[in-house]
Amino acid sequence: MKMPRVVKQYCPKCKKHTAHEVERVKTRPRSELKAGQRRFRRVTAGYGGFPRPKYEGRQKPTTKIPLRYRCTVCKKAHQRTCFRSKKFELVEA
Ligand SMILES: [Zn+2]
Repeated sequence: MKMPRVVKQYCPKCKKHTAHEVERVKTRPRSELKAGQRRFRRVTAGYGGFPRPKYEGRQKPTTKIPLRYRCTVCKKAHQRTCFRSKKFELVEA
């Protein structure tokens, strides 16, 4: 799907509709200091298999599109529930 780079939506901080910049949320490299990553390193160390079961079933034809909406007035970012799409691009409106 195509989506405009700037959308007008409600800002909970300004408490009114303002223009929001849309940005794709990218996965960051995992921090080795976080509790979950430390636990993962501990569990995978030594003997024994991978802690999580292998994914069974078919591959999904779509990927999740997480987006961040940043208010152009107060610069605060909000995230809405993400959706699925095969293709996604941001276009100038
Ligand atoms: Zn705002």
